[in-house]
Order: sequence, then structure tokens, then C-alpha cells
Amino acid sequence: MPKPNAVITRFAPSPTGFLHIGGARTALFNYLYAKHMGGKFLLRIEDTDRARSTQEAVDAIQSGLKWLGIDWDGDLVSQFERAPRHAEIAYELLARGKAYKCTCTPEELDAMREEAKTAGRPMRYDGRCSVKTHDPAPGTFVVRLKAEHAGETVLQDLIQGEVRVSNSEIDDFVLLRSDGTPTYMLAVVVDDHDMGITHVVRGDDHLTNTFRQMQIYTAMGWPTPTFAHMPLMHGSDGKKLSKRHGALGVEAYRDMGCLPEAVCNYLMRLGWGHGDAEIISREQAIEWFDVKDVGKAAARFDADKLANINAHYMRLADDQRLADIIWPMIEAKLGNAMAEGARERILKGMVGLKDRAKNTIELAESAEIYARKRPLVFNDAAMQLLNEEGISHLQQFRVHLDTLASWDSTTLHDAAKEFAEQVGIKLGKIAQPLRAALTGSNISPGVFEVMEILGRGESLARIDDALAKF
Ligand code: GLU
Repeated sequence: MPKPNAVITRFAPSPTGFLHIGGARTALFNYLYAKHMGGKFLLRIEDTDRARSTQEAVDAIQSGLKWLGIDWDGDLVSQFERAPRHAEIAYELLARGKAYKCTCTPEELDAMREEAKTAGRPMRYDGRCSVKTHDPAPGTFVVRLKAEHAGETVLQDLIQGEVRVSNSEIDDFVLLRSDGTPTYMLAVVVDDHDMGITHVVRGDDHLTNTFRQMQIYTAMGWPTPTFAHMPLMHGSDGKKLSKRHGALGVEAYRDMGCLPEAVCNYLMRLGWGHGDAEIISREQAIEWFDVKDVGKAAARFDADKLANINAHYMRLADDQRLADIIWPMIEAKLGNAMAEGARERILKGMVGLKDRAKNTIELAESAEIYARKRPLVFNDAAMQLLNEEGISHLQQFRVHLDTLASWDSTTLHDAAKEFAEQVGIKLGKIAQPLRAALTGSNISPGVFEVMEILGRGESLARIDDALAKF
């Protein structure tokens, strides 16, 4: 149970698409801050826009968060389902004289805007219905907030610092539409209040909304949460992040071979840091993260940096877990060409494989050397290594291999070294054709390690295949 005054944050995405990378960062910062403060992190789906909200998007948001290990507390809250509660508050504001019914038609509103434009006044609702003592029939009016136009609203933002807005800039905005549905502005405030949200951490594109929302809190006599508006993410060229820059759904990063902990590490370093620490575990992040340390400048998304961090996490990742991730990829690719015992071999060879792979796609590709059934397919570079000279060395070394009592990488390495010395060649002259014969490629983990993992029978059979072919 959190303490009575514990921090409660939330992530409130609109389910109109996948969980994109910028949203994931907002969720992560909210999560880290809540956990840092020993509080709770909640998830609210802002699905009031029925035309644009889809169940697929709701599912994608949840699975994206789960993949990133950003777990929310309690059940997910649907904003749409709370519409009656939003309407109740609009009526309470009416009863308190803090809101009024407005029957202006679209034509009247247009004319009002035109007039204001001509007179050079700001084009906002002039409040003409606020003085009417009418009682319009249901369905014929909207409910507007009777906004405070005098003075100014001062926001102490945890990231932006003090931000002031003159209340004369705030219009009597709509709370409830004529069909009785709430506007976003009303729904957010009612939900944040009812969910006990203490800290609203969101993109700075919401800053202007905040000043309007603060007026609803005040009108209801509710305590205003603390706000923190984070700068949006930009592309590496400093422009607003778009698909071209990598503003994709988080699942796209998974499909590109990223590990979730690498994506999280990368995202949290965008706009936040702790000294010069680059690699920060989840535990450390929870210990260190404070919203007030998020920078004010827009963070730039850099795909190369993400790739480097990912390579780092590949080396740290558990072998079995990596094998589980790449196995379906290998299965899909190899189909009938999968050898028996492939999975065990991949697991045994994982340390050597993961050290060389920057992402899970590369890992799955390189693991094929252990998974493919004989006879292998040879790439061009391997075929070149299996030239006349290479084949001749391989033939001679094949004889040595038959005499070996054990088949571990040290013994194999020593045998190759001894052979090379005898023949008067460099070790590479035998190691390279050997690699080509055993893997069909010129790149692989250490060839003696590969031989140990393949075992004597499979290794010799592959060498014999090459000797027969070239
Ligand atoms: N649903 C809003 C969005 O996706 C967020 C609202 C909020 O965080 O207050 O931009």
C-alpha cells in the first residue's frame, strides 16, 4: 500500500495507433518517477474519441508496455466508460455557477469569430450565453466553463520552471458537448482527480491545455496535481520526430532486433542522465530518476546510439532468453533445413554468438551455423577460401583430426597450430578454409569453438562435404 501522500503518476495514451517511441518515453518517465518515490503508476486509455479509437491500438499499447517491462498498477482505466462521471461534474459546475449552458449555433460562432477578426480581437467565445437565464432543452446546448478571466495563472512546472499565463487568454471552453459527451479537457481533469494522480508528467505539447485544466480544478475546489511537461523528442536533424526518424511503434524496434532493456536505457537517457552513466539498469534508474532532473531542451533521437546500446545489452543478456527470442526466427527461416539438436547447439554456442551480434536479427543469422542441416550452402567468401590451396590444407589437416583423442576447442586449436608449424603456414591458412567448410561463411565465432559445439561427427561430415564439393 502506498503512503497516503505517495506519488501516483499515470500514462494516458489515446488508442489511435501503436505505442510509439515518444509515448513509450513518457510512460517510462512516469513509471520511473512513481517507483522512485515508492508510489504507483497507473494506465488510462483515453478512448473518448470513438471514431479514432480501436481495440487493436489498446492491445498494442498494453503489449508494447509489457514488452518494455513498464508494468502499471491496478486495472487499466477506460476514459470512455467514465463518461457519466464526467457529465456529473459538468452538472456540478453548473450548479455551482462555475459553468453555463450555451445555445449558440455554429453560424453564430462563425459570425462571432469573423467580427473578432475584423476588430483585431482574439477569436474566442465572447461569453454571451453566460448572462442568459435560459433553460434550453437537452440536446440543444453545450456546457461551457465560466473561466476566470482576471489575473493570471502561475504554473510551477517541475521541468519548465515557473510559467505564467494571463487569464484573459483563457476562453470559456466547452466541457460537455450537446450530445452530453465530455470534451478531452473535462475528462482528463475528472479522471486525474478521481484516480488520485499527484503528478502529471506529459509532453510539453500539453502545456497550453494545462492552464485551462487548472481552471477546472480551481472551479471544483480540487487540489491541482503537480505538473511536469517534458520536451518532445526530435529527430537527429532537430526536426519534429516523424516516421522517417524512427518514430515507429515499439514493436518495430523489437522486429529490428532490439532488446527492450536497451530501448528503455536509450529512451531514459534522452533528456535525462545521471553523471556520465550511459548504461543504467532498471534498478539504478529507479534509484536515481527524478522528474525535476529532466532537461528542458528537446531530446534528439539517434538510431546509431540505440544500436550501440543494444549491442551492449546483447552481451549481457541471458543465453537461454536469447535462444528463446531467436528460435522462432530461425524456425521460420530454415523450415525443413533445420538440423536435429539445433537448439542445444545454439544454446551451447550462445556466448560466442552474442558477443558478435549487435541485435537479435544478426544473432539469429549467425546462429544458423549451428542450426542448418548438411550439406551447407556456401557464400561467395567461403567459396573463395575453399580454393585449391585451402582445400589442399584442409585435406591434410583432415587426417590429423582423425588422430585426436578429444574434441575440445583447446585440443583442436593446438592441433591446428602444430599442423600449421609442420607445413610452414600461418594458422589462418588452415583456420579460414576450416571455417568456410564448417559454417559456409567467412565470419563466425572462433572456429575451434564452433568445432567443439558441432561435435566430432558433424564437424568431420561438414569438412568431408566441402572436400567432396570443391
Ligand atoms: N491522451 C493524451 C495524448 O495521448 C494525453 C493526455 C495527458 O497526458 O494528459 O496526447
